[in-house]
Amino acid sequence: MNDQSEASDEPEPSRKRYELEETGFNEVPKKWRKFYRIWEGALDTLAPNEILCPVCKVVIRSVKEIRVGDRLYCMPCMSRLLVVEAEDGTLTTDVLY
Ligand SMILES: [Zn+2]
Repeated sequence: MNDQSEASDEPEPSRKRYELEETGFNEVPKKWRKFYRIWEGALDTLAPNEILCPVCKVVIRSVKEIRVGDRLYCMPCMSRLLVVEAEDGTLTTDVLY
């Protein structure tokens, strides 16, 4: 891990950090599995460090709290996502490409 370089481009030190564990998601190489999990459907609750990929409906998990303006990469479907605020104030994503 390169925590130091990550810290230097992190202007908001107040973000909560998360320990990720594998959840059995196996559609990406082992090294990346902990960054994704299968979405359980409408009753699933997303943590502050999780967001749903609108393309493939996989939950992307970050080591830190997700905020508006974050860019995320969904490896299972190779989409680049931008985190935006939805009309109801929750976080959602725009697909960049
Ligand atoms: Zn995806």
